[in-house]
Amino acid sequence: MKSMEQIAAELQGYDPKALSADRVNDFLARLVEPVTATEEVSVFEALDRILAADVVSPISVPPHDNSAMDGFAFNSQLLQPGQPLKLRVAGTAFAGKAWAGALGAAQCLKIMTGAIMPAALDTVVPLEFVKIEGDVVEIPPGVVKAGDNRRLLGEDLMAGQPALRCGQTLGPAALGLIASLGLAKVTVFRRIKVAYFSTGDEILTLGEPIREGAVFDSNRYTVFGLLKRMGVDVIDMGVVPDEPALLEAAFRTAATQADAIITSGGVSMGEADHTKAMMKQLGDVAFWRIAMRPGRPMAVGRISEGGKSSVLFGLPGNPVAVMVTFLAFVRPALQRLMGGTATAPVLLQAHSLEPLRKKPGRTEYQRGIVAKAANGSLTVRITGNQGSGVLSSMVEANGLIVLHHEQGNVAVGDVVDVMMFSGAV
Ligand code: AMP
Ligand code: MG
Repeated sequence: MKSMEQIAAELQGYDPKALSADRVNDFLARLVEPVTATEEVSVFEALDRILAADVVSPISVPPHDNSAMDGFAFNSQLLQPGQPLKLRVAGTAFAGKAWAGALGAAQCLKIMTGAIMPAALDTVVPLEFVKIEGDVVEIPPGVVKAGDNRRLLGEDLMAGQPALRCGQTLGPAALGLIASLGLAKVTVFRRIKVAYFSTGDEILTLGEPIREGAVFDSNRYTVFGLLKRMGVDVIDMGVVPDEPALLEAAFRTAATQADAIITSGGVSMGEADHTKAMMKQLGDVAFWRIAMRPGRPMAVGRISEGGKSSVLFGLPGNPVAVMVTFLAFVRPALQRLMGGTATAPVLLQAHSLEPLRKKPGRTEYQRGIVAKAANGSLTVRITGNQGSGVLSSMVEANGLIVLHHEQGNVAVGDVVDVMMFSGAV
């Protein structure tokens, strides 16, 4: 395990007082080590878990050539350009069992979707395209060509080939695929545990009486939601007041119980509180100023307790800054910790409906609503007040406009990148 100092030395131009957003992710990728413990779970339990070994297909899917339509299977060599083709029906093949009869020349087979295609036949003409008279079928010219409506053995998956890769998050399609291979269980990484608490003397827990100058804790709820969406186990540690003994106890408990600790508040420059001091005392922690908006201050490192170490993400206090730093940095770092190989989210390109002021030299995230214009192109407008404490404009948004480090002002109609929330928020 590398120390914070060693990682810093590996990164070119590391400056804790002016880190670019990209550099933060580079640093975290070196800091965070994936879990190694695994467990076997049933297919139902595997939803949203991360695969810990490649799934190699024990069978071919489909296991035999079969029909994609209800219709008539025949040998396409009998087709003559521009001519109708008349064939006698030799029998009917149903899904679920092989047709056992013999097929003469100029004969076809009535076949149901999913039924095995006899080796001599390569094409299926759908029922609705043919004329049927007694037991003779007439295929008009031009309605099918060789190989139509035939699903090939192994066209989905071939026996012996990796069907899913280690590190992949298992969604509904992956569950279906695993089941289609006849596998009842899969090996996934153990779930990670993430402890979180809010700090600050002005932060009220729900149920406490309102007092002047105090605000209700919202960060614990957004962090809870963001973590739950990632499928991690959460340990809610409440609001911890600005008292050294309580902070120390909270950090020590979190470090023994969790793989990662997320705090909010108390990491900005002017802070006169004990949070930073306690992080420094108990762990190997760096205090950064990130070239971004919102969310400039952040503490990152490890806190060790009883021979166990947890990754610490000390997020800023402002509610939107918490969400933005979580999405930009914590989420990819936790994905790595969980054993996932998920890459950075795909950014959409949308035309800005408004001019946006932007200073080169920092990454800015603006809350936006992406919509489709009448001409089919994507547009984005920002949601009201972009203040770093204004959660209502986060609620309205469906994504974050990412104005990159070097980027300057945006004019109406300019294309900007948008990180869509897509279920994460
Ligand atoms: P700080 O980084 O501690 O200076 O906090 C910055 C701002 O965020 C202050 O206005 C805090 O009151 C506010 N804040 C900090 N923690 C929370 C929280 N858990 N919920 C809501 N607002 C918070
Ligand atoms: Mg504070």
